[in-house]
Amino acid sequence: MHSFINNQDNHIKRVIIVGGGTAGWMSAATLSRYLKNNRYEIILIESDDIGTVGVGEATIPQIQLFNKSLNIDEDDFIRKTHATFKLGIEFVNWGQKGDSYIHAFGSVGHDMESLPFYHYWLKLQKQGRSKDIGDYCLNTLASKKNKFMRSIDAGNSPLSNIAYAFHFDAGLYAKYLREYSEKLGVKRVEGKIVEVNLESSTGYIRAVTLASGEQVAGDLFIDCSGFQGLLIAQSLGVGYQNWSHWLPCDSAWAVPSQKLDPLPSYTRATAHSAGWQWRIPLQHRTGNGHVFSSKFMDEEEAKKILLKNIQGEKLAEPRLIKFVTGRRDKFWHKNCIAIGLASGFMEPLESTSIHLVQSALARIMAMFPHKKFNQDEIDSYNEQVGFEYEKIRDFLILHYKVTERNDSAFWNYCREMDIPPSLQQKINVFKANGHVFRFNNELFNEISWVEVMLGQRMTTEGYHPLVDVLPEEEFDRRMAQVKRVIDTAIDYMPSHAEYIEKTCKSTV
Ligand code: FAD
Repeated sequence: MHSFINNQDNHIKRVIIVGGGTAGWMSAATLSRYLKNNRYEIILIESDDIGTVGVGEATIPQIQLFNKSLNIDEDDFIRKTHATFKLGIEFVNWGQKGDSYIHAFGSVGHDMESLPFYHYWLKLQKQGRSKDIGDYCLNTLASKKNKFMRSIDAGNSPLSNIAYAFHFDAGLYAKYLREYSEKLGVKRVEGKIVEVNLESSTGYIRAVTLASGEQVAGDLFIDCSGFQGLLIAQSLGVGYQNWSHWLPCDSAWAVPSQKLDPLPSYTRATAHSAGWQWRIPLQHRTGNGHVFSSKFMDEEEAKKILLKNIQGEKLAEPRLIKFVTGRRDKFWHKNCIAIGLASGFMEPLESTSIHLVQSALARIMAMFPHKKFNQDEIDSYNEQVGFEYEKIRDFLILHYKVTERNDSAFWNYCREMDIPPSLQQKINVFKANGHVFRFNNELFNEISWVEVMLGQRMTTEGYHPLVDVLPEEEFDRRMAQVKRVIDTAIDYMPSHAEYIEKTCKSTV
């Protein structure tokens, strides 16, 4: 009984979220949903003068879990954020100019005899009977035809298990989550923080002071203040690991353009001579951006390339965003946890930033602290998040490193750069006999690695020896069957635009 009372005394009572971008409002929504009893006060501070980064519109399928955990109705969310569905990312001009491949969500083919399907496909490739593993992937084929539908109960058909994510308007998503959070009692304070007040004896954050002079005190501070890391870096002095020698892009021009017709069900990432361009289709407009390295291309040229390569009229003037790829040395320090851009940024190539916000929040809820912060728990959190960052980093570097492009100084640099040993090992293992192993729940699974490695023109010396256990005739029969089932499913699917029209069209 005695220890129970102590435990209660030790509860955190006020959580202060600094920042009202995607990270801030995702944090507010999660905390208000799970700390719902009135023992907790959740305050979010944001400054209209400073604004948000205003990009971040493509996601990965895990976002569905986030929305579900908040009991958000998916169709309502889609309508209000003008969202579209995303089946994967098309990479154009990456392995070589003129190439195109799709990193699709979900499965490829059908695993057989406990072996991943792609090993059987490697045999087919070796026999010169298949050029593209995407021919056996529902999401890839549907993307090529701008088709989409959600899963239905269709037995063994791939239609029973369609993996998808969303493209959405980041500003509208933050607004959506703001309404959600305010309904659950989150208090929003508009104002610019001009000072962070530390406890002199411990160095913990006690309060933040606004330009109006008002002080907002708290027990736990979530730093969602964007790249600057107002609390974690500027106030607590946590350093930054710069990864730009591996991920050399440091700038992006972003511009919206008219909506696309037909409406694609995938993101496109087109490599240029010193970076790449995104195309993100929304219901009412298209998001475009040219991510480039300022060491290899000046800003004006990068802007010209962007504008030359958008489809349809631009709807605003391009906006320049600068960043440094990397991560904070620590994500949680004392009573401050950095989430979103304040915690690091690895560039948007595989749409992973919003996911990192979501997974940080899941970890925080699992390890929600007491007022007596426990250093072992903090260390464990930092280790887990650091691992997640590093595995995503390796996956991103793969896209730059494994290329045959030699048409610009940028691509020559990328092709020849040193890479982390962890990535080199993954590449070597794949090159030998096509094996890929997923370490400790790293974000991207085996088939994601395989799709990108093959798409970037990597080849393997062999394939899993047990593939040859299947007699040739049976092998042929099964491969043809897999292809037939997928093609039949594709025929059944409606167009992406048609599906949205029927289920979740936004009203604007
Ligand atoms: P911000 O949006 O910058 O918000 C910071 C907040 O802090 C603002 O509300 C601001 O007002 C507040 N603030 C700052 N200083 C103060 C102060 N002194 N006082 C009060 N308030 C303050 N992610 C994806 O998942 N998919 C993508 O496709 C994708 N594309 C991207 C493209 C680019 C070019 C970039 C740069 C990022 C992209 N991201 C993407 C990342 C994504 O944009 C961010 O992860 C996401 O928007 C979260 O940002 P944030 O909330 O951390 O920061």
